[in-house]
Amino acid sequence: MAKVTLSNITKTYPNGTQAVQPATFEIKDGEFVVLVGPSGCGKSTLLRMIAGLEDITSGELFIGDRLVNDMDPAHRDIAMVFQNYALYPHMNVRKNIGYGLKNRKIPRDEIDRKVEEAASVLNLENYLDRKPSQLSGGQRQRVAMGRAIVRDPSVFLFDEPLSNLDAKLRNQMRLEIKALQKRLGVTSVYVTHDQVEAMTMADQIIVLNQGKIEQIGTPAEIYAQPASTFVASFMGAPPMNLLTCKVVENSAVLDAIKLSKNIVKTSEESIIFGLRPEDVVLDERGQNTMQIEVIEDLGAYRIAHGKFFGNDFSINVTKESEITLGCHSISWSENAENFFETKNGKRI
Ligand code: ADP
Repeated sequence: MAKVTLSNITKTYPNGTQAVQPATFEIKDGEFVVLVGPSGCGKSTLLRMIAGLEDITSGELFIGDRLVNDMDPAHRDIAMVFQNYALYPHMNVRKNIGYGLKNRKIPRDEIDRKVEEAASVLNLENYLDRKPSQLSGGQRQRVAMGRAIVRDPSVFLFDEPLSNLDAKLRNQMRLEIKALQKRLGVTSVYVTHDQVEAMTMADQIIVLNQGKIEQIGTPAEIYAQPASTFVASFMGAPPMNLLTCKVVENSAVLDAIKLSKNIVKTSEESIIFGLRPEDVVLDERGQNTMQIEVIEDLGAYRIAHGKFFGNDFSINVTKESEITLGCHSISWSENAENFFETKNGKRI
């Protein structure tokens, strides 16, 4: 096992695209870190640089105490699980899982033992003689995991491993991978564009935006204290409600209405005021009114979408509450309020 350290790692592709701006972070031994962000933000490039599949333009990459910038992928003691599983169609499950070991000239009986062990961990014992085409998507994904496990790597690297699965299977595999990682205790880096995967799987989340790290933190920190409007709207569905307000005597004011008792510490004339949908409640005594235009029923709860002072606004509503379209008084706790700078979106 090992920690992974990135120090000012950058990537500029030969065509001039700056895919990763100086990135510095440490992944602790045994930690599960998720790199998350929208398509094109540089997360795969970062993962591929850790894997050694992409050259590092500048900066230093350590796996354990070894500087690995120029080390061949095969010597980095990593195992990668890809989105498309990368299984050999003509080989059965046993051979697919053991393939990397055979290449390393490991004795036959040891390969057999390791493959059986991995198959047992992954509930694949009854499928060892099948070809990949005779397996479900989830089982194929497990074979890909098995191939990574038998190598006993210091680090697992996952590149959107669940994106080819349907939603239900994805949720199940999410739990399986997370439980497996905790059981094996192998340092893991996992790339996804899915904020739910990031929230549910990570010990630490790294949010990327246009090649830059926006925030590093635990899922709870990222969700409760987003460092920027980008993080606030990327993490959470529906996203945080964001309203541009005037600052009058250090208070957030919208259409001449003071929205909050919180003191806003800024010298700017305007700020962005943020509220998570679940932090706003229907409240007959509420000081403010929202216009509800659409109600989405998700079974466990509902989401009411509409307008608040002319801005798009969403709130979560319990399944018990009798809600109708139209105007409703709402309120929220001062603790739920977030403030961001208008000019750069940074949290105040
Ligand atoms: P993500 O994984 O977050 O979708 P990528 O790491 O694949 O993002 O890409 C980051 C940026 O680098 C994007 O702008 C993408 O177009 C660009 N890029 C990726 N691969 C190459 C390449 N081989 N040559 C040039 N630009 C690339």
